[in-house]
Parts: sequence; structure tokens; C-alpha cells
Amino acid sequence: MTALTLFNSYTRALEPFVPLDPANVRVYSCGPTVYARQHLGNMRAYIFTDTLSRVLRWKGWPVTHVINITDVGHLTSDADAGDDKIEKAAAAEKLSAWDVAARYTALFKDDLAKLNVQPPTRWSVATDHIADMISFGERIGGSTYDAPSGLYFDTTTVPDYGRLAGHSVDDGNAPDVGRIETVEGKRHAADFAIWRRSEEPGKRQMEWPSPWGIGAPGWHLECSVMSIKYLGEQFDIHTGGIDHREIHHPNEIAQNQAFTGSSKTGANIWMHNNFLVERGAKMSKSSGGFATLDTLLDAGVHPLAYRMLCLTAHYRSELEFSIDNVLAALTRLKRLVIAVEKLRTQIEPEMPAVTVSATAHTLLDQFDAAIANDLMTPEALPLLESAVTMKRLAAAERWHVVRLMDRVLGLDLERLVRLDLRLRPAAATLVPEEIEAKLDARQTARAARDFATSDAIRDELAAAGVEVMDGDPLRWEWKVSFG
Ligand SMILES: [Zn+2]
Repeated sequence: MTALTLFNSYTRALEPFVPLDPANVRVYSCGPTVYARQHLGNMRAYIFTDTLSRVLRWKGWPVTHVINITDVGHLTSDADAGDDKIEKAAAAEKLSAWDVAARYTALFKDDLAKLNVQPPTRWSVATDHIADMISFGERIGGSTYDAPSGLYFDTTTVPDYGRLAGHSVDDGNAPDVGRIETVEGKRHAADFAIWRRSEEPGKRQMEWPSPWGIGAPGWHLECSVMSIKYLGEQFDIHTGGIDHREIHHPNEIAQNQAFTGSSKTGANIWMHNNFLVERGAKMSKSSGGFATLDTLLDAGVHPLAYRMLCLTAHYRSELEFSIDNVLAALTRLKRLVIAVEKLRTQIEPEMPAVTVSATAHTLLDQFDAAIANDLMTPEALPLLESAVTMKRLAAAERWHVVRLMDRVLGLDLERLVRLDLRLRPAAATLVPEEIEAKLDARQTARAARDFATSDAIRDELAAAGVEVMDGDPLRWEWKVSFG
């Protein structure tokens, strides 16, 4: 087994991973703000954290993984200005703020399940922790001050503020100063809200009494409070999208330092996944938002093709999202599933215990070395693909190796069959029964050597987005079509 190495954003270096407690590796991941459907770029973060958890478990460590749900406090502007995203969505959708949060939390969890992302040990919801946030705010009183709009954190009271972002206050280059609009009474551009007082109490749907007046917590507060509550003052790994490296995570670190009175950041390793980028912008919705899982489902692309796409790139690299890349990932997944399906027919249902040969050992060692190298999934994936068909291994052994590797990659190969990948596109004009009937008619025509009719049926099906596959037991496939 190769020792696990992870890239720590805080030191900008690859570091050996040494658990604080090998019996319980503790991981915190920043979760979604549930004011809208999460787009595919957001979902990349959870495929990344899921891969991380799976790798930690592969290495033999039990994992406690906490993901938060932000249902209050995240403003439309990154500065401490603008509306609360949830309250704004509630007004637009004519729902209560609580219903908006419940609706998009449920959709988010459904999307995770479709991507075969394992649920964390604990979902931690911001509004369930208001009392914890208030007592946290009281305890860090030495680092806060009052301004007309609420309680603010003084970033000069902690050592090396902004180091995670690669800046420090001393060099006059505090994180993204340009984006932080002026808030009356704020002492430094990088200071941020711990508690925002309601301008007119009773107008907001989500507000609570506090020592600083009726209002709501600032967005950054919840993650410090909930990570410390469930994982302790110093835990193993904190993850998030790379956008959090600039403001949200430096602010969490500052709060943690004020809380513990030390220079420790709260997590031994800070990890960030890179963006999903779209150069041609062809797949974006007309509304300007990024594509969601529904964009893929509507086109007839199985959600796990998106997981496959994510695995083909290292999590720290930008991943280009395009129709070609999605289709290539879908084809790659189909090939793999077809090979695994074939393999499954070659093994006994009640398999005897597998003796692992030297060849299989080598393959597993190579796989281990790839994932131990900062989760290098693009190198691990081809090893799984070659294991499925490796002639030198008996079928039972191949199945054993494939199952082990897929516990890390999460493509659900134990259950997925080729028919599952035949998703009906939203624009389809035929139902499968109609297609089968047409194919039977075509069969009859061919038997009678009536090739004109046979070709006409084939063309008709092609026009309806159905690809006829002569000589294939499945007979037909939907053509993927992006509206
Ligand atoms: Zn967070």
C-alpha cells in the first residue's frame, strides 16, 4: 500500500496524510446554499468529497463526514450587502423561506443519490444551530465590534489573516478587497458580518433574537460552529470549491482562531476542487445558469456519465464541460458497463472465496498508488477498465478486483446494467413499446425481403431519435439529443 498524499491548499504543497485519530478520520465539507437547484459545477464538489471519503475508507480508516446545508445568511453579494438568497428566492417563488430551503435540499439530495454519492455521516443544517452560533459569537467577543448593521469580525485580531487565499492583510492585498463593498462602520475591507441585524424586524421570515438585536447570522459563522461542534476544534480535512479559498474559508479560519485563541486553522488539511468550465457556453440554459443534472437526463444522458466525466479529470484541474466531453464519458461508461455485464454472466452466483493472484495484487497496488497520489482518478480509472477484461485473471478474480476498485470510483458497477443507460430523452416522440412494435414489423419485412419497407421503418425511427442496432440483442438505443 502506498502512503496517502494530499494537496493542502493552506501550505500549497502535497503532504502525507496522517490522521489525528486513525479510528475516526474527521472531514467537513461546505455544502450548498439551498435557494436554487445546484448546477453541475456545484455537484463536482460533492463527487470530489465522495471520492475523498471512499479513498480514506479504502485506506482502512473509518470516516466521520459532515456536510452543512446553508438555509440562512448567504447574501446575494459576497460583501455584507444585498438580500439573503433564500428570502429572495422565497419572494420570487411565492413560497415561504422554509419551503424554499426544504424544496432545494430535497432536490440536492436526490441529485447526489443519482450520482451515487454516499450520504455523509451527518447533514448539518444552519438554522438548527442558531443558539450555537450565538454562543460562539459571544465567545469570540474580543475579535468583534458593533456597526450599525450588526456585529462584525475584526480580521486584524487574528494572526496571518487570509493566508489560505495567498494574501495577508499586512501586504495590503487582503482577499478580494475590490469585491467587498463599503459597509457603514466596518473597520477593514476584509472584516465580515457575524450577525446582521434586521433593518425592520418582522419583515424577514428567518430572524432570531440575539445579544446584538433581532437578525440572522452571517454566512461564514455556521461552518466554524458546526465543524467544531461535530468534529472538534482541530479535525483532519476541510473541503470546498476553490472559490471558497478566497473569502469563506479564510473567514472560517479567522473565526476558529478567535474561538480557540490559537493560530491553528481548525483543519490539518484544506482541500479545494477546481471549477467545471464551459468555453462554448452551448450547454448553459437560456436563463444564463449552468446546466443541472436535468439537462443531462432530458438529453438521455445517464447521471453516472457525469460522475465518469469528473473521474477523468484530477479534482484540482479545471474540467471542461461540453457536449463532446459528456458524450465521450457516456460512451466510456457504456463500454465499461457492457464489459462488466458480460463478466457477471461468467461468474457463479455463490462465488467461492477468491484467492488473489500476483497479477491481481499488482493491479490493485497500481490502483492504490494512483488514488494515494492526491486522488489521481484519471490514472485509477483505466486500471479498473483493464481489470474487467484482463485475460490472465479468472472471471471470479476479475469480478473481485472490479468490485474493490469500484468501491472507490463509485460507478455502481455491481448493479448498473446496459438497459439502465438507455434513458428516454425528454423530446422523444415514441415510447419503447412503439419502438419494439416497429422493429418487429421491420423484422417481418426483412424476412419477406421487402427492403423498401425495412429501410423506411429504420429511417422513421432515426427521425424519432432512435438508433437501430442490427445484430445487437438490445436492438435499439436512444440517440442522445441536447435540445
Ligand atoms: Zn462553509
